[in-house]
Amino acid sequence: MTENSADVIIVGGGIAGCSAAYFLTQQGQSVLLFEKDSIAAHASGFAFGVLLPRLFEDPSNPADELTKLSLELHKQIAEELSQEGEIVRREVASVMLALNEVDAEQYRKIYRSGSSLIGDARWLEHGELSHVEARIAPDIPGGLYLGDTAEISPSQFTNALWQAAERRGAKLVPAEVGSVVSDGARGVRVDADGQSYSAGQLIVAAGPWSTRLIEQVGMSVPIEPLKGQIVRMKAPGPPMRVSVWWDSDYAGSKPDGLLWCGTTEERVGFDEQTTDNARYGILASARRVLPFLSDAEVVTQTACLRPVTADGLPVVGSLTEQSNIIVASGGGRNGIVLGPALGRVAADIASGTDSGVDPEFLSPARFGA
Ligand SMILES: Cc1cc2nc3c(=O)[nH]c(=O)nc-3n(C[C@H](O)[C@H](O)[C@H](O)COP(=O)(O)OP(=O)(O)OC[C@H]3O[C@@H](n4cnc5c(N)ncnc54)[C@H](O)[C@@H]3O)c2cc1C
Repeated sequence: MTENSADVIIVGGGIAGCSAAYFLTQQGQSVLLFEKDSIAAHASGFAFGVLLPRLFEDPSNPADELTKLSLELHKQIAEELSQEGEIVRREVASVMLALNEVDAEQYRKIYRSGSSLIGDARWLEHGELSHVEARIAPDIPGGLYLGDTAEISPSQFTNALWQAAERRGAKLVPAEVGSVVSDGARGVRVDADGQSYSAGQLIVAAGPWSTRLIEQVGMSVPIEPLKGQIVRMKAPGPPMRVSVWWDSDYAGSKPDGLLWCGTTEERVGFDEQTTDNARYGILASARRVLPFLSDAEVVTQTACLRPVTADGLPVVGSLTEQSNIIVASGGGRNGIVLGPALGRVAADIASGTDSGVDPEFLSPARFGA
């Protein structure tokens, strides 16, 4: 291999690309990873970072197997990294708050279903809720307590994956890939900063920017940016011991000492600016369920772009049966949960390893790539 070639080129230093690099280097493959900004500079560095358990088996959901695999890989990676002295995972319970009786009945049903998947789960009436977090608004009827939830810092986790890959020989090319050319059976070539690089296989894990790269080889995989914002606050009193979720929002105390609240879903193209409107909306929603946050002081606000496909499902697989271009993206709101499996499946396809997961329903072919 020359300096400008590798077994596999990865575009994108988010959680999907860094997971692919992590597994490929475990498999002995040489890797060049291209990142236009820095590792975890976008959604993978600013997400909330909660790994909620699957509540039940859902054979009708094509992403269910991938989610299961990914939650297992999260545990495996955390264990492997801890052996190298890096602690990336915290066990922090979550509570799905019911804002009304309809939600409450739905959560009670999940609890009564006795699904073994959710492990340490309990329905808590409001009085019991106050034992886990006494500051929840008094008119909240109750919540589903999920004791088997874990949290990661997405930025730390993604960087740790990359550093592990780097220790095994992966190389970072800090440049924006401008063009991609498929050389058929011979492999692929990418151009960045006036230089050409070649590899047997290319993994496109460029988040919402993936579509543009894929279009260059005459294919179409619709992945759009869905902006989300988070407000980080200095809150009065002790940190919250659980993260709480309601509607599509959430709040929880983080190791940086701040209480994070989110979020928004905005279709505004590639605009990553924070906005006052989003902050007002997030704060109003959070104060509705946690009135003590009226006295919290906003310290910072972040915005980033989730990669979302046209059908809302993740996308992982080769562009065509013969293609040596593999896509790993579309994690959407679950991209931190799904990142390790997206990376693992892409790595296994690139290295010709049998991953045991059949990602057929998630392949780019469903878009008539
Ligand atoms: C507010 C918010 C909260 C979230 N919370 C959670 C959560 O709690 N749990 C969860 O599971 N998910 C969460 N998510 C979703 C999750 O963050 C994303 O789905 C995930 O990070 C996407 O990772 P990725 O690697 O696919 O893409 P990205 O993180 O976007 O990485 C893609 C990378 O590719 C690089 N790139 C793009 N084009 C090129 C190019 N041409 N050349 C070189 N580099 C390029 C970019 O610079 C970028 O760094 C959240 C998202 C948001 C917005």
